[in-house]
Amino acid sequence: MYIVEIDSQERESEAVRHLLGLPCNEDLLRALGLGPLSWIVVDAEKSRLTPTIKGDVDILGGNLDFEDWAQVENAYAEMKAEHPDWPPQLQTQLAHKKVAEAGGLVWPPQPSYVVGAEVKCAYFTDCIKAGKSSKQKHIRNQIVGLEKMGLNKFALVDVVGTRPSDAEAGAWLGALGQAQQARAAMDEILRARLPEQSAAGHLVWPVGSVAGGDEGIRGAGGLRLLRELQANPSLAANDLKTMENRKALLANIPRMLDGLPRPRYFPVIFVDCRKCRKVHYLEDPACVRNRREVA
Ligand SMILES: [Zn+2]
Repeated sequence: MYIVEIDSQERESEAVRHLLGLPCNEDLLRALGLGPLSWIVVDAEKSRLTPTIKGDVDILGGNLDFEDWAQVENAYAEMKAEHPDWPPQLQTQLAHKKVAEAGGLVWPPQPSYVVGAEVKCAYFTDCIKAGKSSKQKHIRNQIVGLEKMGLNKFALVDVVGTRPSDAEAGAWLGALGQAQQARAAMDEILRARLPEQSAAGHLVWPVGSVAGGDEGIRGAGGLRLLRELQANPSLAANDLKTMENRKALLANIPRMLDGLPRPRYFPVIFVDCRKCRKVHYLEDPACVRNRREVA
């Protein structure tokens, strides 16, 4: 479904799913300071992580690790012997993939680096809709909430959807043009989003959509980093409440993911699903939400 077609209740949630679709998720993970060897939980309920904080984190992510790095080294040596001409980066990726497929990831994860992002979704038809320029204070409070949870880093991601361009409207090029217009129209709102001294990162994904598939599949236009994520200043200052929350967060992440089958690929994406009232794989075919999309 296109972002412009979704009702407001569901828009942000759908935008997160589009954002995590390929190839955008690689850029997103990189911007958040995570590589592909990572997990993500969409819509993570804060109260299960840091009991005194309410609401949810649209995108919560952390690093994965291997049980045995000697096994990874062996797989890499094998890959080098079998395919000496392949680029080292590819050899490494395939070695990692092989070990993960054999069940070599630590599970549940014991992350040392955890990030969170708040996602806002506006859309552009001939002007910006749902830009929430009147809600800057609320958005800033949500960002402060991420800081107080004790995350290593945190960010705001603005997604701006557009009307799908069909062949007549220039398809891909039309969609790119729409994305550029949307980005320009959103500029003033983006500038006012975060206080100057905020440690939060800021990303924008102005996405032109091409008729024939939603933005997760056929989105034109890339994710752009407006402002780099900085290390959490409350952690650096040893703020007592933040340190307590971080302790709870690091203890509760493995609890939240324990019981789910060990992933054999990465990055791996879960959702704290309100409909199923549990955390499951984002693509779980048993989820009401996924069944609806298939129908
Ligand atoms: Zn579900």
